[in-house]
Amino acid sequence: MSADTRLLIELAQIPPEGLEIDAELDRPRLHLEEDAGFDLRPGARLACRLERGEGDSVHVKGRFDAGVGLACSRCLERAEFAVGQPLDVFYLPRIVDRTVDAEEEDDVELTDHDLVVAYYDGGRFDLGELVREQIVLSTPMKPLCREDCRGLCPQCGQNRNHVDCGCQPAADPRLSGLAGLLGTK
Ligand SMILES: [Zn+2]
Ligand SMILES: [Zn+2]
Repeated sequence: MSADTRLLIELAQIPPEGLEIDAELDRPRLHLEEDAGFDLRPGARLACRLERGEGDSVHVKGRFDAGVGLACSRCLERAEFAVGQPLDVFYLPRIVDRTVDAEEEDDVELTDHDLVVAYYDGGRFDLGELVREQIVLSTPMKPLCREDCRGLCPQCGQNRNHVDCGCQPAADPRLSGLAGLLGTK
């Protein structure tokens, strides 16, 4: 692996024929903080092609594949989730150029209905930032280790996927609240 672990792309670095990127994704490249909320599993990759377009735009097309480790929202065990997806992004310089005519903007708009536009400053952009955002967006909000995860027993706290603890189902919480009020709990 190169000593430079960043995926920082300088516009001037992209030749007229385009630039192929095939890079391993790791925490430094993705600028992942320790508290990102998930582990990045080894073997994550970004493979894409960069092509320069009109007005210093750059078309990034390809895909990334990554596995992330997340705690199951029911049983809290770590489970792995595949979050790979295609990338199809246009980078545009952030400078608002009022001389760009509407026709040219239309061309960009109509290129693809799944078009994603990102903006860059200072003649460079970081594909690591882009992929990190995409990973965060495709990470499930309520991850499940499996569809039928039985979760933790609310009484004894054991993982019901592994043990049949035999606890009785919880009483209706409204009734137990009432029992508490009556001093019979
Ligand atoms: Zn689970
Ligand atoms: Zn139990």
